[in-house]
Formats: sequence, C-alpha cells, structure tokens
Amino acid sequence: MKKLSLLCYGELKRYGVYSDYRLTAISRAAGILSARRKSIKRNIFTKSPYASRPLLVSCYGVKIQNGCLRVQLRAGRSEHIPLNSHTLGVLLDPALRINSFTLTSTSLSIGISREIGAQLEEPTGAVGIDRNLRNLTVGNKDKVTYYDMTKVVRIAETTRSIVKSFKRKDARVLQLISSKYGMRRRERVKQIIHGVTKQIVREAKTKKQVIIFEEIRGIRNLYRKGNGQGRSFRGRMNSWPFHEVKRQVEYKAAWEGVPVFTLSRKDTKGTTMDCARCGERLQSPVRGDKEHHRQLWCEKCGRWMDRDLVAVLNISRRGRVRFARSSTEGEAGEALKGNAEHDGEPLILRVDASKLRHADPTQ
Ligand SMILES: [Zn+2]
Repeated sequence: MKKLSLLCYGELKRYGVYSDYRLTAISRAAGILSARRKSIKRNIFTKSPYASRPLLVSCYGVKIQNGCLRVQLRAGRSEHIPLNSHTLGVLLDPALRINSFTLTSTSLSIGISREIGAQLEEPTGAVGIDRNLRNLTVGNKDKVTYYDMTKVVRIAETTRSIVKSFKRKDARVLQLISSKYGMRRRERVKQIIHGVTKQIVREAKTKKQVIIFEEIRGIRNLYRKGNGQGRSFRGRMNSWPFHEVKRQVEYKAAWEGVPVFTLSRKDTKGTTMDCARCGERLQSPVRGDKEHHRQLWCEKCGRWMDRDLVAVLNISRRGRVRFARSSTEGEAGEALKGNAEHDGEPLILRVDASKLRHADPTQ
C-alpha cells in the first residue's frame, strides 16, 4: 500500500479526482494486487489485474444529513443519497461510528463500528458447537440444543433436481441455470442459518459464555469424484454449509463482544470419540444396526450415547480448558467456574431450525 502510494499518488492528480478518493483508490488497487499475488502463489492462472466494476469508496467526511448520506464529490460539491427508515434507524444509534461507504452502480454499503465494552467481562462458561449435516448441536453439560437442519439438506436436493431437469446440453445455458438456482439455494439456506446463529450468540451473551468451535478442514477433499462415493452423497456432503455457520457466529459474536474460540485439530485429536461421562473410548455400532443409528456405545457406563451429544460435550469441555489456558495469565482458569462436575444429564432441547425465523425473538 505504501509503495503503491509513493509510486502513483502523484499520477492520480491527472484524472482530476477529488483528493479524498485517491487513497481509497490506491487501497483498492493494493487489494486487487494482493489477491493476484495469492493466485500466482497457488499457481492459478491470472490475467492482468483490473477492477471488475466501478465503485466509489471513501472514509472521509461521511455524514448523515436530513435522512440522507452525504457524499463529497469534490471541494464544495456534494451529493445526497436518501436512506430508508430501517437504515436510518440503525445508523442513528449514538454508540455507532460511521466509518466509510462504498457505492456501486446498484448498491450502497456503509461501514460502521462500535466499541465493545462487554468483552472485558470474564466468561463464566463455554458452549460448544458441533456442526453436522442434518443438525447443529449446541451446548454444554447443563443444556444441549439440537437445531434440526434437515431442511437445508432438502433445499440442496431440490436445487440439484431442478438443475438436473434441464436437458439442454449447452454448457453456457447450464452454467446460467446452475448459478441462478445456486444463488437461490444459498440465500434460502443463509436465512435458516441466520435464525440459529442469532439465537446461539444471544444465549451465549446472556450467559457470558465462550463459543467453542471445532476446526473442520479438508472436508471437500473427502468428497470428490473418484473417491468411491455415490454422486448424490457427494452432492449432499459438498453442499453442507458448515462454514457459513461459523462465519455468521463469528461476526455476530464480535459485534456483541462474545469471545469465540476454535479448537485446532491438535486440540481435539482422538477425543471426539471419548465418553463424556467417564472418558472411556466409545465404540461405533455394528454396520447395519438401524436401532443405534448415530449412537456410540460406552463399555464402562454400559449404555448407548448420542454421537452428536458426545461431540458437543467434548467440544465444550475441551474448549473451556483450552480457552482458559490461552487467555491471560492463569487466572482465567478460575474465572471459568460454574461448570462444576456433575453426573446429571444435560437438559436437551430440539428445535426446528427452519421455523426459528418466525419464533418469538425474546426467547
Ligand atoms: Zn462412559
């Protein structure tokens, strides 16, 4: 960025652009160049770099005036963009700072920030999140919630069958169709996940908990053509939106001052299959055992346990320990109390994720 500024700041004078925009233009160019460098590093073919669509970005003199966003075009000349009541309502919050705006031919984005004071409070517990294809299990020793995500799987299946129903063998047309229905699928799925993540973050905030994730990596490599799996199975696994869940939780938690911690693969190595009550290694059911589908057997406790429940209990327990170790100097370990060992079963709730959006927001 600095090098680029030195090289071309003077050159930009030629274009008669208002000086406020010169630095943001250079910053955008630096972004494009760094993306290109990454592509070259990964051996991906790159064209000569260019900005794919025109946009106006500035972080200077952004102001709300009479229900409009004031955009300085040059000294003494400004443009006013009307904002709708929802946007105005959000922006009028005095705790918010308006940092920047980005204007394209079809959209206006406003960058805002907020000071988080609550982050300083010591967390009193941890809540683990286990991401599965058909459910999202969230909880700890006291309470576990299953969010039913089967609708997400169904949406992906419907999309695939719609795209498949177009029989024309034309790559361009097919690409258009799959991109259209793919976008529709992503938006519908996102909406369902929003309902869940909102609830997760809200609950963690009121209970002052750390949110613990388990790292999922290389999952797409597991389900590729030629790996010996069926087509529809691969399609199902590859449309699993596990990353979207994390993305949403992370940004919502950051906004609310809730800490999020991700367990690395080293942290969780070999413990996902351990009994949450006694630590004994659990055993999978025999192939074809329909009765104990997604369950694990503990020899010591002599009982079957739900696979997702075991996973989430392990994640929250591990995460609590790891988080305490990584944050500050030893004292935090004591701060994470309230999860005293107890033999009781956690309270288990089952929620249909696709119906959350319409649920009472105060719950
Ligand atoms: Zn056990």
